[in-house]
Amino acid sequence: MHRKGNPIRRFRLTKIVATLGPVSSSPERIRALFEAGVDVFRFNFSHGQQSDHGARMAIIRALEQETGRPICVMADLQGPKLRIGKFAAGPIDLAPDMPFRLDLSTAAGDVHRVGLPHPEIFQALTPGNELLLDDGRVRLLVTACGGDFAETVVVAGTRLSDRKGVNVPGRVLPLSPLTAKDRDDLNFALDIGVDWVALSFVQRPEDVAEARRLIAGRAAMLSKLEKPSAIEHLDRIIEMSDGIMVARGDLGVEMPAEDVPSLQKRIVRESRIAGKPVIVATQMLESMIASPTPTRAEASDVATAVYDGTDAVMLSAETASGAYPIEAVSMMDRIARRVEHDPLYRTIIEAQHPEPQRTPADAITAAARQVAHTLSAAAIVTYTTSGSTTLRAARERPEVPILCLTSKVETARRLELAFGVHAEHTSDITSFSEMVQKACRIAVDDGIALPGQRLVITAGVPFGTPGNTNVLRIVWIER
Ligand code: PGA
Ligand code: MN
Repeated sequence: MHRKGNPIRRFRLTKIVATLGPVSSSPERIRALFEAGVDVFRFNFSHGQQSDHGARMAIIRALEQETGRPICVMADLQGPKLRIGKFAAGPIDLAPDMPFRLDLSTAAGDVHRVGLPHPEIFQALTPGNELLLDDGRVRLLVTACGGDFAETVVVAGTRLSDRKGVNVPGRVLPLSPLTAKDRDDLNFALDIGVDWVALSFVQRPEDVAEARRLIAGRAAMLSKLEKPSAIEHLDRIIEMSDGIMVARGDLGVEMPAEDVPSLQKRIVRESRIAGKPVIVATQMLESMIASPTPTRAEASDVATAVYDGTDAVMLSAETASGAYPIEAVSMMDRIARRVEHDPLYRTIIEAQHPEPQRTPADAITAAARQVAHTLSAAAIVTYTTSGSTTLRAARERPEVPILCLTSKVETARRLELAFGVHAEHTSDITSFSEMVQKACRIAVDDGIALPGQRLVITAGVPFGTPGNTNVLRIVWIER
């Protein structure tokens, strides 16, 4: 709940998502990450136990109480990550043209064969398909196959060890994106009250529908785009999801690496047009896992995502298991702020400005951005229950923060992922004039505006009917 004299405001519109892991799970570390600029904490259910995530959640909600700022938490489900079995005598050596067999046997592998306990893969294969193992380091060409085996030859790769991941590029596998483990993790995540659930390896719109049915509105739902088949259904998947992640790790294995940059731009653009928050993820500051400074190419990569107009940029191992988690967040924060102050950034963002839809909410939020610009106002204010008007305001990519007032703490937390949104959980507001008063006070208390500055306020009148944004008011904060 809003508290006076609250110092934490970001001087940045693009949001930062950071993954928690072994090096970032103490109360001190989580607080330091938050103070360094993290807006959304990601729990990666591919690693750790449920109890680890539960403990992190308790720390975050206590920090929220203490700081009075809503903090957003995302549960990222592992999904059907396919893996080979184990080898009897440690890693094996591979060489080009070497024959190698995959089968359903549970016997430990050797230099001739290894188990692959996924019948769905064998059902989907045909000779001529390629299998990528260990994030694409090993490539196998299928020469013959049946319901329980595949004969292959090695195309590339020198070594293969236990439990390495398997990707089958270009094939739609008859897999639900939710394994038994995912369903269990999902229930746990919803019980501890996560704000977003991220679904891995989405292939079809039906996958999104299935996840939505299970989540049943208890959290917002984000689709991770990391399969070529998801790209084929991009429009529909964006439409059916509340948010999108450009999951470049698996995407870059499933598709040629050279396709990923254009896809990133396309996905960010389409998500913005749809008004859905989008995250650019994976390897953003990868070398900072082991080094206190990033490569120039990594700094440039973070900057590019910001210039693309993404809602958020993400850190994975950099904050979960790296040696410099706080430094990685500060670096990301500084890069994003620097880009946002570049006049060229504004030019690019405005050039890609999507047309408002023919709705009152879009007409008002588009006007709010224009008015805020013309008058150099300090912020745009939205009052929301579901968050929908606030997301339309974020779609405008205004140059000032969007101060979002809401009486639902869940909405405040969820919206922290969206571009430019500074959410505040307030008590119920019953009239427009009360809202204006509260907005002015909170804007000053939170350091969003100074007395003597203007706010551009959107609202629906009569007050308190959701989804009827129809008023734009310019107010001057009294000195
Ligand atoms: P992951 O997803 O880290 O859960 O695999 C992100 C990605 O694939 O880029
Ligand atoms: Mn992935």
